[in-house]
Amino acid sequence: MSHAPGTASTAAPSPNALPSYLDANNLGPWGIYLQQVDRVTPYLGSLARWVETLKRPKRALIVDVPIHLDDGTVAHFEGYRVQHNTSRGPGKGGVRFHQDVTLSEVMALSAWMSIKNAAVNVPYGGAKGGIRVDPRRLSRAELERVTRRYTSEIGIIIGPNKDIPAPDVNTDEQIMAWMMDTYSMNQGSTATGVVTGKPVDLGGSLGRREATGRGVFTVGVEAAKHIGLDVAQARVAVQGFGNVGGIAAKLFAETGARVVAVQDHGGTIYREAGLNVPELLKHVAEHRTVAGFAGAETLPNDQFWEVDCEILIPAALEGQINKTNAGRIKARMVIEGANGPTTPEADDILQERNVLVLPDVIANAGGVTVSYFEWVQDFSSFFWDEDEINARLVRIMRAAFAGIWQVAQDHKVSLRTATFIVACTRILHTRELRGLYP
Ligand code: GLU
Repeated sequence: MSHAPGTASTAAPSPNALPSYLDANNLGPWGIYLQQVDRVTPYLGSLARWVETLKRPKRALIVDVPIHLDDGTVAHFEGYRVQHNTSRGPGKGGVRFHQDVTLSEVMALSAWMSIKNAAVNVPYGGAKGGIRVDPRRLSRAELERVTRRYTSEIGIIIGPNKDIPAPDVNTDEQIMAWMMDTYSMNQGSTATGVVTGKPVDLGGSLGRREATGRGVFTVGVEAAKHIGLDVAQARVAVQGFGNVGGIAAKLFAETGARVVAVQDHGGTIYREAGLNVPELLKHVAEHRTVAGFAGAETLPNDQFWEVDCEILIPAALEGQINKTNAGRIKARMVIEGANGPTTPEADDILQERNVLVLPDVIANAGGVTVSYFEWVQDFSSFFWDEDEINARLVRIMRAAFAGIWQVAQDHKVSLRTATFIVACTRILHTRELRGLYP
């Protein structure tokens, strides 16, 4: 483009300037992730020269998902699949169906998968997908059509050796079965290894459904030892009662801990003497919410955050613990079952108040760890029993957590930064070993 004499031309972007869609000043989930990378960079030594790799996704696909609704009209939904990094292996991460999903959010979630997978040292990169849809407003037939069309659209970049989706918010075993079938039909042969979190009768793994909650519980118990907290005497508050919060609550209750408060999209329930968790799980299976559970008081939603408890488990969506409520939290320990539930401001407030935060990127890594077991079992067509799966899961989670705890002590940093140090070092080391192509 020519410029009139005397007018300045627009400066050429520097070679390392962020692409236009990656806005470090916009603190959406992606902006939060970029801040987390900046915090860890001083600890990466010579590998810091590769850190720009982590600040942009390797590949992002936006797809149109048109379907026939049951009334005969056509609806279009927006779908995404982002592969943040594949230095350590194929992309891996869930697919979420939610009306508020955005590309920025899926990018951040894919990046957190890269960190998480490296933190527990499973041989995967990081990826994530999503569709901007409220699945509760779809019939089962419409849900199946959305799932199949989306799978077909992202079929060009997924595969057992390329990128392996799994369940996430509002997606389950049935949706994984439809995804597996659609991909397989397009390929012309059954490819069970293309997704994990499938039904057990279709190449799924025993223990996968409970794995994230079991991992939350396992790291919670390990961390409690370090801070002298007796889990059997602890009071626990849980936000989200799906297969993360519900299972974690069940395991804590089985040790003797009292689950005193639970919040979900339907409301907040409280019982000082401890809720009957098995009964509550039955209630939720039937009513799809904790609201209306007999034998509990109802609390205004905002009071959930100031409930007297030792352990708080956010296991719902992002940004739930923020500057408006972090100062009121009474717990000694927050275990992030959800991805990204604590904003950076809230993280700082909790640290100042001496509340230990077990970050998502290690605390909820149990799910993807058993996904890895599922993928290995599918490849070898040899299936393990549940005790073996749980024992291997617990061993991996404990070892990963112990390493991260030590790094946090050595560098006097938070567990989040310590997890990023361990994970980014692993990712960038493989980046360096592989070198740049061409
Ligand atoms: N969606 C889960 C997560 O955020 C599991 C991903 C997987 O198993 O691939 O970790």
